[in-house]
Amino acid sequence: MVYVVTGANRGIGLKFVEQLAARGEVVYATARKPAEAEALTALAAKHDGKVHVVALDVSDPESVAAFVAALDGVTVDVLVNNAGIYPQSGGIGTLDLEAMRRGFEVNTIAPLRLTEVLLPSLRGSSVKKVMFLSSQMGSIADNGSGGSYAYRMSKTALNMGVRSMSRDLAGDGFITFVVHPGWVQTDMGGPNAKITTEQSVAGMLAVLDSADAQTSGEFMNWNGSKLEW
Ligand code: NAP
Repeated sequence: MVYVVTGANRGIGLKFVEQLAARGEVVYATARKPAEAEALTALAAKHDGKVHVVALDVSDPESVAAFVAALDGVTVDVLVNNAGIYPQSGGIGTLDLEAMRRGFEVNTIAPLRLTEVLLPSLRGSSVKKVMFLSSQMGSIADNGSGGSYAYRMSKTALNMGVRSMSRDLAGDGFITFVVHPGWVQTDMGGPNAKITTEQSVAGMLAVLDSADAQTSGEFMNWNGSKLEW
């Protein structure tokens, strides 16, 4: 099958590419700066002809257009919207509004726009799956500790956008859902995080593989359970 994975030069995205390539999938792996994406480039060399490194800044419309052109009409079976940021937006009294806007731009608007522009490529497939990396920090039910305004709000809004999309595209056979990867040892998750990228991605790929119409519009955990909104 053919996968697109965004933010694939490090962290969770890089591990997605590694595990997908290991099972023989074709992966269009995106990075903002391919020339600096050494680990990803090494994977592409190891899986020559299967892993393609393509430039993409998900928040830049020109970059998105160039990415779609680079795909050159290929049919995409599965899109993994992984790229994301954790903006330092301050607390009440010190809110950084620009950081909040940036959070929405990258974490909320960008994955919806990318999915929209890739719809023609996805429609050609009988699989039609789109998985969005959200976060339990976007869960209103789970927010007992406050703070993290930009990140939390951007992921809560993403969750709502994906729920709407799942309803709007259900008639066309699309399966779209959000997933929490766990607290994962990456630059974003930090060294004290509870699970490795290996564990997180293996779990999420199992969720993705088994996702069906019942999964569409849901908030899934990396281990296959459902999360509260
Ligand atoms: P990470 O290590 O910080 O990596 C983030 C990735 O996103 C990098 O490849 C980065 O590229 C890319 N990215 C950022 N802005 C981008 C843009 N405008 N266009 C294209 N790519 C962009 O983060 P991670 O831990 O792997 O997180 C991956 C996803 O999981 C995110 O959506 C995150 O919110 C979510 N998540 C992570 C955790 C966790 O514990 N780690 C928990 C919950 C949810 P550059 O290298 O160019 O910056």
